[in-house]
Amino acid sequence: MTRYIFVTGGVVSSLGKGITTAAIAVMLEKRGLKVSIQKLDPYINVDPGTMSPFEHGEVYVTEDGYEADLDLGHYERFSQAPIGRHSNATTGSIYSEVIRKEREGGFLGQTVQVIPHITDAIQDAIMRGAPKGTDVAIIEIGGTAGDIESLPFLEAIRQFGLKQPKNHAMYVHLTLLPYLNASGEMKTKPTQQSVGKLREIGIQPDVLVCRCERPMTQSMRQKISLFCNVRPEDVIQEQDVKTTIYEVPLDLVREGLDRALVEHLALPDNTRINMSDWEDLRERWANPKGEIEIAVVGKYIELHDAYKSIYEALMHGGAAHQYKVRFRKIAAEVCADGDVAKILSGVHGLLIPGGFGERGLEGKIRALRWARENELPAFGICFGMQAMVLEYARNVAGIPGAHTTEADPDCADPVIHLLDSQEDVTNKGGTMRLGAYACRLVEGTRCAEIYGRDLIFERHRHRWEYNNAYRKKLEQAGLRCAGIHEKGNLVEVVEISDHPFYIGAQYHPEFKSKPLAPHPLFAAFLQAALAHQAAPTNTAAELQS
Ligand code: GLN
Repeated sequence: MTRYIFVTGGVVSSLGKGITTAAIAVMLEKRGLKVSIQKLDPYINVDPGTMSPFEHGEVYVTEDGYEADLDLGHYERFSQAPIGRHSNATTGSIYSEVIRKEREGGFLGQTVQVIPHITDAIQDAIMRGAPKGTDVAIIEIGGTAGDIESLPFLEAIRQFGLKQPKNHAMYVHLTLLPYLNASGEMKTKPTQQSVGKLREIGIQPDVLVCRCERPMTQSMRQKISLFCNVRPEDVIQEQDVKTTIYEVPLDLVREGLDRALVEHLALPDNTRINMSDWEDLRERWANPKGEIEIAVVGKYIELHDAYKSIYEALMHGGAAHQYKVRFRKIAAEVCADGDVAKILSGVHGLLIPGGFGERGLEGKIRALRWARENELPAFGICFGMQAMVLEYARNVAGIPGAHTTEADPDCADPVIHLLDSQEDVTNKGGTMRLGAYACRLVEGTRCAEIYGRDLIFERHRHRWEYNNAYRKKLEQAGLRCAGIHEKGNLVEVVEISDHPFYIGAQYHPEFKSKPLAPHPLFAAFLQAALAHQAAPTNTAAELQS
């Protein structure tokens, strides 16, 4: 029978609940248990697909084409749990389901209410989130205890827990112990109040995970235990990590979270778990051989979360060579009329991430031209790949009017265009080309060499595509098509074979990179960047000297 762990958060948002949830999955998997992870989000959007990155960070895409909260990215990077559309439910998705059923007559005669109809639908979603054979289902509730909008979710998990046999459901609450500089102490009151909020609606947390900047003293632990009605050994400290979020599973095991979970769920407790792969990873991250700097030229540069998976994948790629990656975050517009040589001077690689709309496109194109001409390793992803194609078309292949119809629907040369299947799409939610598609790599290309196989599956999230009408001209000019989605004859990845690294992927490889298994394209990009650092090419070298 499946056991359930509900993870709630208190005091403030952005406590790293997603990472703590993912870390719980890691420690359970180390016991040989089959784990599922799910996020319940209290907002009204049906999914986060239509939200601006400024609102909600990046939109993460799952293998089955669901546009998801970025926490699902943490789940996949840390664990082996199967992540897909069943791994997320929102107030919007729950209400649409209930309202649809009401319109179909599914509740004939009844008044449809938050309790029991919405709370029942939430419980159905929780059941769906744990595929058959799951030993432990971990469910993270978005938002903070005390929010009006999370109430139905908290009520639903209370009811759900009540229906489980003894030791088959538990509640982990993540809180903050703020440190007050003025008085030189950490405060427990916000934790007490947030646990109070949960208890008001009938949830008594079994375990408290306390985020803190400094170590928690024994007397604080006792105090929290007393006021929050949680055993002292189940008050677990989660201190800020030193180098990387990938230390969190190790820290939490050391602090006894693993033991607490095993006790509360009455799981077979035979051994101390072996975390040696994570320990190795921590060692490598903590003792880099050096640093390398990558320029990321994008539209949402001010917000780290907007390109979360990209930064993570770059760091994985660096760690593959035991190098720490520094980011030079550059707003694309700055490159449109600024001195690109100066802006990019000294970086060892350039990455252009995905994006939407016209803003910043010309800046990306100028940055790419400089990288191409100066042999700076460059990696384009989705919109970044489209910008690479436009740059090459305009400046090398002799198609000066090359454009994407996303920016100029009436352009002379629509080198990037909408597929017919996208022409009539009016609904914005869930209608892009989404999820994993097969891509056949072309023999003899850099990409085929990097991947080491010829059939790959990578995830997509876009509407526009490389226009095959220009393929011959572009290939003849030297921008090679390195991979095709054969069924639709779609160009998925392009490269300049004799450049140190110039690859543009229409798909998003960053969604498949893990700290313990860096994505081959990111590892190869960082390798090229390291080579560039060792022997910088012309302009960059001159500028540095
Ligand atoms: N705006 C582009 C498209 O829809 C690229 C999307 C992206 O970068 N994710 O095709």
